[in-house]
Amino acid sequence: MGSVKQRRSKRIADLTQSYIRRMTRECEAVNGINLGQGVCDLPTPPEILSAASQAVLDDRSVYSKFEGIDPLRRTIAAKARDFNRIPDVDPDTEVVVTVGSSGAFHCTVEALFDPGDEILVFEPFYGYHVNVLKAGGLRPIFVTLRPPDWRLDKALLEQALSPRLRGIVVNTPANPSGKVFTRRELDLIGAFCRKHDLLAVTDEIYEYITYDGRPHESLASRPGMRERTVTISGFSKTFSITGWRLGYALAPPDLAGPIGLVNDLFYICAPTPLQHGLAEGLLRIAPEYYRDMAAEYERKRDLLCTALDRIGLHPHVPEGAYYVLADVGALDAHTAVDAARALLRRTGVASVPGSSFYASGAGDRLVRFCYAKEWPVLREACRHLASL
Ligand code: GLN
Repeated sequence: MGSVKQRRSKRIADLTQSYIRRMTRECEAVNGINLGQGVCDLPTPPEILSAASQAVLDDRSVYSKFEGIDPLRRTIAAKARDFNRIPDVDPDTEVVVTVGSSGAFHCTVEALFDPGDEILVFEPFYGYHVNVLKAGGLRPIFVTLRPPDWRLDKALLEQALSPRLRGIVVNTPANPSGKVFTRRELDLIGAFCRKHDLLAVTDEIYEYITYDGRPHESLASRPGMRERTVTISGFSKTFSITGWRLGYALAPPDLAGPIGLVNDLFYICAPTPLQHGLAEGLLRIAPEYYRDMAAEYERKRDLLCTALDRIGLHPHVPEGAYYVLADVGALDAHTAVDAARALLRRTGVASVPGSSFYASGAGDRLVRFCYAKEWPVLREACRHLASL
């Protein structure tokens, strides 16, 4: 264990700070344009802001039930039915409002898995998933998906089988690849989970951001999967409120119960005035809001991908979410970290090294850019990139 001055728990001994955050600091130090961390600094819809301000002024300041306030859970259950096609979600026993979708993921891991359990994770992955699993003592088993279409087939799943495999993480639309899992792929995952008695944990935080007419499909809506899936999502990305930290988990009562228990233990409840603000604000959001938001991101995707292509940093054009992985082989850098730093130095634009999303070396020629930015900022970033 060593001296108290250098103490670090075994649980986090091999974890390091994510480059997603580290590049933000490096970007701020040189006053650059941050296309690294998915900060999503776009305006929040006024309906949501005014409802939340009112909730603060009305002093709705005390703890809620650990599973969240009733009206918000009812709205989430209705949205699960209408948008995700997960029918008959009982807001009283099957919904837990959490501190961001990351909070939902953390509570799910702590509530439903044991140290030593193995869990399948697709690579490229969102590093926070992997680190939360590792901090919980689980062993991620990586299955690498490859560009251009990051296609999943049955053989890839079967390769990951082991006697200790207990679950699978499915992030769709995916960070960082922008992959949107097709119905066929979700059904392969479903069959695999049923055959080997695995629990699926999804992260669908980018569910409203899909492009070129692609639908978002939820694993829990597929045959036989509702009873073995924890569906996680949240409001951060849809309403550009990443700092509010509001998310949720949906699961059958026997799974939602323990998730709620852990949520109570670690967090007591999600921030209450913000829960009230959302519950009321959501009712005032026009139905076109979601479609318009995705269309706007699609135009931003096209602008950035065209700019990257022009300078020879070939983009793997995303199908959803708001990140793009680009090939930085042309920069001749030694590692992806060197490439991201060289880009920041030469153009003032920050990105995240691709190696942060891979356990293997497959990310060494990639960096990730985030285009959840206001138009003038994104245009300026593209101009800077063009100077490369
Ligand atoms: N999900 C966002 C990203 O991938 C933000 C994560 C974070 O801020 N740590 O960049």
